Amino acid sequence: MAFVTPAPDGALAPAERDRREDAFRDVLARRLTDLDPSRVRSDVPLGPFTTFQIGGPADVFFEAHSADELAAAVTAAREVGVPFFVLGLGANILVGDLGFRGVVVRNRAAHVQTDRASGRVWAESGAVVWPDLIEATLDAGLSGLEHYAGIPSTVGGALWQNLHFLSPPPERERTMFIEEVVASAELLGADGQRRTVDREWFDFGYDYSTLHVTDDLVLSATFQLEPKDPARLREIVEANLEWRGARHPPLDTEPSAGSIFKKIDGVGAGRLADWCGLKGTRIGGAMVTQRHANILINAGVAGGQSATARDVRHLIGYIQETVEREQGYRLSTEVGMIGDFGDLGRLPEAGWEEADGFTGGVPPGGHPEAHRDAERR
Ligand SMILES: Cc1cc2nc3c(=O)[nH]c(=O)nc-3n(C[C@H](O)[C@H](O)[C@H](O)COP(=O)(O)OP(=O)(O)OC[C@H]3O[C@@H](n4cnc5c(N)ncnc54)[C@H](O)[C@@H]3O)c2cc1C
Repeated sequence: MAFVTPAPDGALAPAERDRREDAFRDVLARRLTDLDPSRVRSDVPLGPFTTFQIGGPADVFFEAHSADELAAAVTAAREVGVPFFVLGLGANILVGDLGFRGVVVRNRAAHVQTDRASGRVWAESGAVVWPDLIEATLDAGLSGLEHYAGIPSTVGGALWQNLHFLSPPPERERTMFIEEVVASAELLGADGQRRTVDREWFDFGYDYSTLHVTDDLVLSATFQLEPKDPARLREIVEANLEWRGARHPPLDTEPSAGSIFKKIDGVGAGRLADWCGLKGTRIGGAMVTQRHANILINAGVAGGQSATARDVRHLIGYIQETVEREQGYRLSTEVGMIGDFGDLGRLPEAGWEEADGFTGGVPPGGHPEAHRDAERR
């Protein structure tokens, strides 16, 4: 689950919003006795806390600076019965223009411990993978996380999505997954209990972990790394940063949420969109970057008007319909749609990718003809 309980449509009456905020603050203060109440804030715009730089305000907003604070905040929201969302770096989500009706807990629990002798690295789930965690492992001469240099992610987000990258250079023969170095993690369950689970619990897959379907929250993770020459680790980091820099839009001038559509096995969502000539397509401030047809950017940030979540949703719908019409595949979104988008007008229905006998976006019996035609173009 995305740590979102269904929120009511539209804005809440101010009195109800204030009641929720006060109740959350009171319960949190009972759990964190030295809490400065002003840390619980209201009406905080979420755009600046996402890599897309898009999104309306959270009714209530709290930044957790330790695993204990994170657990306390989530437990308080559950006790008050208010919808909540745990936010990492916001690199794999799109927040609706009307924001989030409930509590957003931004995870900044970032303590890291490395032990070269055992190869174990422990990190709180809000630790930022690049540069903070990876630099700590490089300093300790430990190998296993350097492959993910340059990817915006917290440890929690990385486990949620099973962070991956084509590495190591120069061969780049396979996709490496963070699951390969996960030893265990401490979770907070829906029952409020903390427990430690091993790698198997996560049932990791491509862009998948059990976290997608449970109410568990990652508080910290332990990685098992291997001692290696720090100079070689540094080489891998530099080569991966260079490789990414040449292919991905830079976040400061072309904010994005990375790949917007899920991979379709053996085809590639970006390739399908590219074959349809969709690079450069723009709706409002949202645009398909010229660098990669599976990445939408907030083109307004570089000048003009910033994209709205509505612009992005309409561009997604346009790409989905064009690819289906021209290639016969149905693309589904990889990024999480968080909060209240208001009335978006006509878009493909939710679940359309699997309707009419389609499986994983592929039509019944596959669609080799359209695929081959496209390849010839
Ligand atoms: C420019 C760019 C390039 C990218 N390149 C890659 C790439 O090469 N490879 C790749 O794999 N991904 C890539 N991504 C996607 C993104 O970096 C990953 O999905 C990343 O793991 C998201 O982490 P986050 O902390 O930002 O999570 P968020 O976007 O903040 O949250 C994503 C989901 O994780 C959940 N979550 C967050 N923390 C926790 C927790 N502690 N416990 C349980 N659930 C939690 C959230 O509730 C939410 O549902 C890229 C994104 C961008 C913007």
